Order: sequence, then structure tokens, then C-alpha cells
Amino acid sequence: MAVTVRIPTPLRPFTAQQASVSVEGDTVAQVLEQLTTLHSDLRPHLFGADGSLRSFVNVYVNDDDIRHLQQTGTRVTASDTVSIVPSVAGGSGATAEAARPAALPPLSPDEVSRYSRHLIMPEVGMDGQQKLKAARVLCVGAGGLGSPASLYLAAAGVGTIGLVDFDTVDRSNLQRQILYSTADVGRRKLDAAAERLRGINPDLRVIQHETRLTSANALDILKDYDVIVDGADNFPTRYLVNDACVLLGKPNAYGSIFRFDGQASVFGAPGGPCYRCLYPEPPPPGLVPSCAEGGVLGVLPGLVGTIQATEAIKLIIGAGQTLAGRLLLIDALAMEFRTVKARRDPACPVCGDQPTVTTLIDYEQFCGIPQAAAQTALPAEFETTVEALKRRLDRQDNVWLLDVREPSEAAICRIPGATLIPLGDLSRRLSELPTGPTAPDIVVHCKMGGRSAKAVQLLRANGFTRVQNLTGGILAWIDRIDPTQTKY
Ligand SMILES: [Zn+2]
Repeated sequence: MAVTVRIPTPLRPFTAQQASVSVEGDTVAQVLEQLTTLHSDLRPHLFGADGSLRSFVNVYVNDDDIRHLQQTGTRVTASDTVSIVPSVAGGSGATAEAARPAALPPLSPDEVSRYSRHLIMPEVGMDGQQKLKAARVLCVGAGGLGSPASLYLAAAGVGTIGLVDFDTVDRSNLQRQILYSTADVGRRKLDAAAERLRGINPDLRVIQHETRLTSANALDILKDYDVIVDGADNFPTRYLVNDACVLLGKPNAYGSIFRFDGQASVFGAPGGPCYRCLYPEPPPPGLVPSCAEGGVLGVLPGLVGTIQATEAIKLIIGAGQTLAGRLLLIDALAMEFRTVKARRDPACPVCGDQPTVTTLIDYEQFCGIPQAAAQTALPAEFETTVEALKRRLDRQDNVWLLDVREPSEAAICRIPGATLIPLGDLSRRLSELPTGPTAPDIVVHCKMGGRSAKAVQLLRANGFTRVQNLTGGILAWIDRIDPTQTKY
């Protein structure tokens, strides 16, 4: 029985860029076995060392999660579509009505004319617009998702918008973070964002939380808001926002993006699922690249952030059906929008029947960040600096330079003489490296030093002894040796 399996863009490098693959099988287990036989590089991304399906990879048959069917024993027929939906980092129905003041604030004559297109719609009307004016929405992150979300929420008449961010505006943000203009490069994001949002609506109250959201401050920051818009770009913050929302009973308009794929949902609604119900465990650090490493289409956060703003507005005015209980999947390459069911897990450690997480935890630890840092840390003798490399290249020492970035990155900037072998290809291209008693020393570099540290460990495990990691990568090289090249 030939069944169609849909492949999300993060996993398409392992299926020769195919968006869907037709494979034989009568059960999900057979389908996945056939799929990973056809595309063997996909196997470690779907299955753990013990052969079980990884917990951060969800599989759906049509719009049902197989965990709520017969797991991998679920039977499939030719008319079924199997979807693989991994968790992605880059980046609510308790209605907010309970939190609104008993008496709604009246609209001024200016506000009546400003919001006239809302007021004439029965779903919003005077009552809905007053609810928006009374509402307090917190955007976690003033980046790709927070930009369109906060701009539309401000324009729609939300009275109070809080922003959590601690970054300054970088030139590389402007491709998607439409809160900022070229003149804002170098400014504190929250200053520039507040100015831009007040430019839309001078009556808007913008509350700046210039800090990293942590377990120590999250409950205190979130408690004063009616709806949370999660625009985080990393897994620890995602789980932190999720747990804080569940503990406080706040709806979370969730969105995440990676390359051409987007996800949106509403978590933390009464009776509804939370992020942990879908993804009980985060992926190991480094397995799922961030947008900074893997890239993101500039307009994609525009699509997803606008959907988050739409959900926030519906939660505030109490209209329509939110995405609570559904996960929206967006494939911008095929331009397909689909929803799959998202169910509350009675065994969920946060929102389940017997919750075990009743206070905020250490999310860096939960996501394995310190453990991974300890694992990839190299002894000092396996690190070298850009200055030392420059001296050795200048005196024509016997050095062989290996670049483990992707070809698209090497097209932007290169250290002269480096051989390009992307990290993902390295294990099967080891024969291209120099070996033997007179072989040169190998110095490995990437963008910032993370991937090259992994490459050094891989080479050491394969018997290469004279191999060093270029600390700080090509960015350090450009900063300290060759500022004529362009950073990315
Ligand atoms: Zn849950």
C-alpha cells in the first residue's frame, strides 16, 4: 500500500529536498521503516539509539497524532497522509474576559473614528473595541514574530502592550523585524519598538521589560497580562513561557518559524493542551538548528506573527474559534496551510491530571544546555586563536584548514585556502583529509566555533590527533584579522 509521507523543510536535506515521499506500508511503523531505508540519513533524526521514535518528533496520520491512535501500530491506507512534525524553536482558550475590569473604558471621539472599521463589525463592535482598549498583551521577544504581532495589536487598539527583550538592533534583523528601520541599527530594541508602536497609536501604553525572561522573573512579569504572545527563539524560553502560562492560567498565542516552515497554536486554554503535551521533551541542543544557524525566510515571521496577533485579538474579544486544540502548520514553499489536532495529555507534567511541575524549573538544565556545553568543550590544547593561525599561515607552516560550514555560508566569506566539507558530510568524507606521518596539522573552523568543535571531536574519535578548533570561527577572523570581509 503506497502512502504519502509529508516531510517538513528542516528534514528535507535528508530526503533529497522532496516535500513528500511515497512509501509502502500498512502501519506507521512499516511506513517509517521504509522511509528511513530509502533515506537513511533521516533515521537518526527520527529514531533514538534504542530504535524508539524520538519524543520531539510527532507523527500524524491525517490530522490525528498517533499517540492518540495506536502509536506506530496505527494502520494506514493509500488515502492517508502521514506527516512528520518536529518541534522548532524559532520564534493561547482561556479568554481574557475574566481578567478584564468590570467597567470597560469608554472610547474617545478620536478612538471611535480610528476604529470605525472594527466598530461596524458585529463580532467586534463597541464592546469588543472597549475590551481591546482594556486588554494587556505581553510579547515575549521583540524580534521576527514580536514585530508584526505588536504592530497589529497596537493598530487594532490593544491598550497595553508589554515587550520582553534585551537586544540591540542589528543590521541582519532588518530582513524580517519590521519594527525597526535602518536608522535604528545599534539602538536598544525596546526603545525603537516603543517609539514605533506609539507612532501608530499615541494612546498606547508600552511597558518595556528589558531583561532576559528567567524562572526568577517570569511569573512576576506575566501575571499582569491577559494574553501572552510567545515569540521566543530558543527552547528554554519556549518551555519557560509555556509552564508560566499554565501555572498562571494565561492563554499563550504560540508561534514558531524555521526556514519556510511555521507553526501556530493557542496553549494554556482551559481544558486545552500546552506545548509540553505536544512536545514533552526538547530536542538535544544542536540537533535542531536555530534561525541564526539555519536561516528563515523574511516574510515567514510576518505570516506567523500576524496569526498570533489574530488569535490574541480573538481571545480578548471572545469571538470565533481559536487554535486551542489545533496546531496550524504552514509550508511557505508549497504555500499550504493545514491544521492537525493537538490534545491535552492527561499525563502532562504541567497541565495533566497529576502535575509534577508546580513551580518554574531550570529550563537551561531541562533543555540540556549546560550538559551539551560540557560535552563539546575541548581541552585548551585543541583550541587555537585567529592570531596564531594567521602567524602560521604567513610563515607557510604545514597547516591544512578545514571549513565545516554550508556552501551558502562560504559564498559570503572565506578564509583563503580552506577546504569546505559541511559538518553533516564530514563523517563520510574523512578520506579527503590528509593523513600520515608528514600530514599537516588540521585547523577546523565554522562561523563561531560551535560546529567546528564538534568536528574536532569527530576527527579525534577517528584517530586524527593533530587537530585544532579555531576559537570564535570566521567571525573572529573578520573582526581581528581581515575586516575587509563581510560578516553574516
Ligand atoms: Zn500539557
